[in-house]
Amino acid sequence: MKVNFEKLKEGRNSLTFDIPSKDVAFDYKGYKLNGNWHINADFFKNSRGEISLIGDLEGKITLICDRCLKEFERKVFLKFEYFFVPFEEVEVKEEGDLNDGVVETFYRDNFVEMEDILSEQVILSLPDKVLCDESCRGILKEDGSPYIEEEGEEKPLDSRLLPLLEIKKRLKK
Ligand SMILES: [Zn+2]
Repeated sequence: MKVNFEKLKEGRNSLTFDIPSKDVAFDYKGYKLNGNWHINADFFKNSRGEISLIGDLEGKITLICDRCLKEFERKVFLKFEYFFVPFEEVEVKEEGDLNDGVVETFYRDNFVEMEDILSEQVILSLPDKVLCDESCRGILKEDGSPYIEEEGEEKPLDSRLLPLLEIKKRLKK
C-alpha cells in the first residue's frame, strides 16, 4: 500500500494498514509471513517536505530453527522509525541509520510502500541465530545425543580470556 507524501497534510497523519502476507515480497532464508499484518503509522510532515514516520507492526512469521531445522511460528511485534528527506535537499550524504536507530532515507519518488517497510523491519528484527526454543537440542541421533555439537560458544574471542576459561572449566568439574 502506497503512502503518497504529497497527499499528507502538514503535521500529524495517523494511518493504519492491514496487509495480507501474500502482498509482501518477502524473501529471506526461507521464512514465511503468515496471515494479515497490521501496521499503525504516524506520519509527521513539516513545511520543508521532511517526513518522520513512527509506527508499530504486528503479525506472524514462520521461521526455521537453526539447530533442529524445524519450522515454527512466532508472533512479531515491533516499533520502527523512519525519517524521509527530499532527495534535492541532500548533497553528499549516505543513506543509513541515525545514531538512535532511526532509518534515514532520501526520497526521489513521492511515496513509500508500506510492504517494503514491513519486510525491511521484520528482517532487521530477526536475531543472527534463530532457535525454536532456547533449550532446543538440535537433531538427535537414535541414542538421543545431538548430531551437531555446538561449537564456538565457549571459545574465547580473545586470548587474554584463556585463563578465565580455564578457571571456569575447573569450577565445572
Ligand atoms: Zn530447534
